[in-house]
Amino acid sequence: MTNPAEPQVAHWHGFTQMADHDSLVIKDGEGCWLTTTDGQKLFDGVSSLWCNVHGHRHAKLDSAIQAQLQRVAHVTTLGMSCQTTDDLAKRLTELTPGDLGHVFFSSDGSSAVEAALKMSFQYWQQREDPRPQKTRFLALGSAYHGDTTGAVSLGGIKYFHQLFAPILFSPVRGPIPCSYRVPSDISVTPLEYYTNEIKMLLEKHHEELAAVVMEPLVQGAAGMITHPTGLLQNVRELCDHYNVLLICDEVATGFGRTGKMFACEHESVTPDILCIGKGLTGGYLPMAATVARPHIFNAFLARASDSRQFFHGHTFGGNPLAAAAAMASLDLLTESSYLDRVAEKGEYLRNRVISDLSGEPHVGDIRGRCMMLGIELVADRATRRPFPSELQLGRSVCRRTVRDGVWIRPLGDVIILMPPLIATEAELDMLAAVVTESIKAETTNLIKQNDSISSDA
Ligand SMILES: *Cc1c(COP(=O)(O)O)cnc(C)c1O
Repeated sequence: MTNPAEPQVAHWHGFTQMADHDSLVIKDGEGCWLTTTDGQKLFDGVSSLWCNVHGHRHAKLDSAIQAQLQRVAHVTTLGMSCQTTDDLAKRLTELTPGDLGHVFFSSDGSSAVEAALKMSFQYWQQREDPRPQKTRFLALGSAYHGDTTGAVSLGGIKYFHQLFAPILFSPVRGPIPCSYRVPSDISVTPLEYYTNEIKMLLEKHHEELAAVVMEPLVQGAAGMITHPTGLLQNVRELCDHYNVLLICDEVATGFGRTGKMFACEHESVTPDILCIGKGLTGGYLPMAATVARPHIFNAFLARASDSRQFFHGHTFGGNPLAAAAAMASLDLLTESSYLDRVAEKGEYLRNRVISDLSGEPHVGDIRGRCMMLGIELVADRATRRPFPSELQLGRSVCRRTVRDGVWIRPLGDVIILMPPLIATEAELDMLAAVVTESIKAETTNLIKQNDSISSDA
């Protein structure tokens, strides 16, 4: 089983049981489609893990990278720069909300979050009127901010994060602001309830808190947990009131996914620090960034001998090839009506999935925003009771869709649909149809094989 001579065993995959993994080796891609070495065409239903924006082998992105390659492939950002990267930084300050104005580049989303943690900590240590006791972070329940140790410390997904507890710092843990599983005994709206939970934590801990870290609107890896509308704005107000920074992790939600360039725009919020990644280069090359507002940036300005510079920097941060891809991607995203079209398509996909699955007894919830959808399968719709996880229903559903030409990857029993933003209505119809068929077939199979699961919905 573990013969290192086989290239597919030599390559150790992330979040994958290597003793039981379906090997899919891709030969090439075009638009929303990937072709395996066996010649099977697969629709890329999760945008190559949530990052592809304009499809594969887009002519404009390809030629932007080729043009940059004619000049230089890599230049460090420590002590020098590349015009392409400087131009991208400026462009990002124009596109990100409010006065976010200073872009610190790294290579992936986790690193962007690490930089945000260290940046906010160092800010409180050395700003005018320093608050050195502000050393902790508030993170939401079921949070996901990446896989490096600091990001995992923020993480609240039991299955990914708990194992590592002995080597992590402990955040102040907030609620899971889920609109589907709201505690049954509350006498206020979900929005008021979750806001109040966060308020109580800030009231108690604000003096030791450097920042609140959250994914705005939708917690992706948690299973597309969708917050009540208004929560982000309320958290922004609470952070201002309690003098705590707000770090928004838009690694998943950024660059059009939610129908706007950034999810924060839906609630007119400007975080103090914004983390971006995944879609930044159109999903082509590893690049991420931590974007800060002037009050953060200014706290790091001093004479060189004062040792106030940000003590952080990645070898490949700001890579020019990635920057060239990002500029080309942003050119497309900012074309007039591009994002309006994305918003329409997201609406189309949601309506299509809702109408195909309405009345399905084991579809508990269809949620998310725009082109990031989650379909949660449950054993009992009335009580929202999940299926036993060992039955791996989500996995069976996705295995079947792959046989039918659609590659998707579930999060437990939440089926994730996150197609490239360029997907056409016809492609979205096909995606919805294949996924619906698979959900129906696999839940029926599962119920047949396991009499103990009551189909009492
Ligand atoms: C994917 C993701 C990350 C981590 O990004 P990587 O590029 O995989 O390190 C961080 N935050 C959120 C919200 C994500 O979805």
